[in-house]
Amino acid sequence: MEQRRCPDCGVTMEAVPVRDGNSMKLSIKTGTRDGLLGKLGVSNSAHLQSVCCPECRLVRLYAEDDD
Ligand SMILES: [Zn+2]
Repeated sequence: MEQRRCPDCGVTMEAVPVRDGNSMKLSIKTGTRDGLLGKLGVSNSAHLQSVCCPECRLVRLYAEDDD
């Protein structure tokens, strides 16, 4: 995974797992390929990768390209 930097602190953010209450990976609905996020893949959902800033604890979520 590429390095993510905190927009506030400029330090490298650490990957942290995000799970719901059933230990399932979180995902978002991206719609069809014609939709705004359709380029993310052929499926209409994308799993989320989260990163956390060790300085200010900001958490950001990124939609993954693949399952
Ligand atoms: Zn930060």
